[in-house]
Amino acid sequence: MKITLVQPKAYRHNPSFVWEPLNLGYLASFLKANGFSDVSIRISAFEDADAIAMACAESDIAGITGTSPMFSDGMNIARKAKRHNPNLKIVFGGTHATACTESVLLNDEVDFVVRNEGELTLLDLVRTLEGNGDVKNVLGISYRDGSGIRSNPPRPLVKNTDELPPPDRKLFDQEKFIRTSSQAGKRTIWVLSSRGCPYRCTYCASHTVWTRMWRPRSPENVIKEIEELVRDYGIEHVNFSDDTFTVTKERTIEFSRKLKESGLKITWGCNVHVNTVDRETFVEMATAGCSEIWMGVESGSPEILKELKKGSTIEQIAEAFRASKGLTMKRHAYLMVGAPGESRESIVETKKLLARLEPDFAAVTVFTPYPGCEVYDYAKQKQFVSDNMDWSAIDLHQTVVMPTRYLTREELEEEHIRFVRELEPYRRMLKFSVTDFLGRVAMRFWTTPPSGYGKLFKKFLSYVSARRLKPRS
Ligand code: SF4
Repeated sequence: MKITLVQPKAYRHNPSFVWEPLNLGYLASFLKANGFSDVSIRISAFEDADAIAMACAESDIAGITGTSPMFSDGMNIARKAKRHNPNLKIVFGGTHATACTESVLLNDEVDFVVRNEGELTLLDLVRTLEGNGDVKNVLGISYRDGSGIRSNPPRPLVKNTDELPPPDRKLFDQEKFIRTSSQAGKRTIWVLSSRGCPYRCTYCASHTVWTRMWRPRSPENVIKEIEELVRDYGIEHVNFSDDTFTVTKERTIEFSRKLKESGLKITWGCNVHVNTVDRETFVEMATAGCSEIWMGVESGSPEILKELKKGSTIEQIAEAFRASKGLTMKRHAYLMVGAPGESRESIVETKKLLARLEPDFAAVTVFTPYPGCEVYDYAKQKQFVSDNMDWSAIDLHQTVVMPTRYLTREELEEEHIRFVRELEPYRRMLKFSVTDFLGRVAMRFWTTPPSGYGKLFKKFLSYVSARRLKPRS
């Protein structure tokens, strides 16, 4: 069986934006480990859609993944491929196909939807199609059956994620991703160390595929993958793509200690949920090379946090920022405006909280009710969104999809633009600190005789404190 796996383009406004296709890498290595060696991965952001459609048409099975913004490009490729080869079996998977299974299957070109986690289900489907078996027995798929849509019972998740082979990175241009992800000259790669997140944020669709069960890989298994990446690609920095890396303190500390023991000289960054960390955990992480943490603050209004079901309070957020202060890691704060109960007052509360947190970097996006999120049903019922809308047109950094109870779309857009402008100092700070600042410090040390180091260090300290920037609130 010849199998082509496709990652479609996500955003019309930013067609070159692309995630490292770890999910397809996992599917490919699992298929290959189970005897299907003719597997390839095609990435629509790097290639012409016609060329990808031809590659699919010359295969037996095309597997197209995708979030909602990827769906329209995925369908475009599917239509072209099916025109060339009507016998091709087209399988859609990923968040959008799992959340909107029925509407995806209304497209005649789509033969099957693989719901939820893909490895076991896709393998079973491929085996069944190869042996002309009955797809009725394949757990976790949906398909058209006569005039209706049949959804087979769900498939249990992979129990032990250590048993999955690491993603096959040789099937895509890994070097290209290393170049685009690298910061401050460090060769950077993405690694998935756990699947799922136990939290219930209303604007998040992660549970659609992974459920809310958190399944970590063992620290040894993750470190082994990193060792191989250092050996094969000269990796210096790892970004963990886990929804929440720090779900349990025990595992975070165990991983950090084992990484130190391994002698690997890498730095790393990860998503942190503020409820899961404390000073001890941050110290362990920082001394194991953690150089950046990304924390979802979202709002400074207790009511909005409750509405978002973020699971954290203002005090927990403030405590996480306090506990991570003064360590080597850059602290990124992610904020959001536009929850259904957002008002001008709650946005002011968010700005005030931000000033209190003093992160190294902050970004604010617009609340977007993607399919699969809890809030999607509310937005659909109010007719702000629909299953068939083109999500590739939505830019979550700019586009307002729905008004709030207190702000019209236009008012929310204005508030968001104002907030983004007020965050400019944080961007300048980041840019400055990474490139300009380090370059200047290096130059000063280079050109100063050792006797002048004490004076230079004092100057450096006063310079840093003078550059502390706060947003205007
Ligand atoms: S903590 Fe992050 S990944 Fe988990 S549910 Fe909330 S937004 Fe989603």
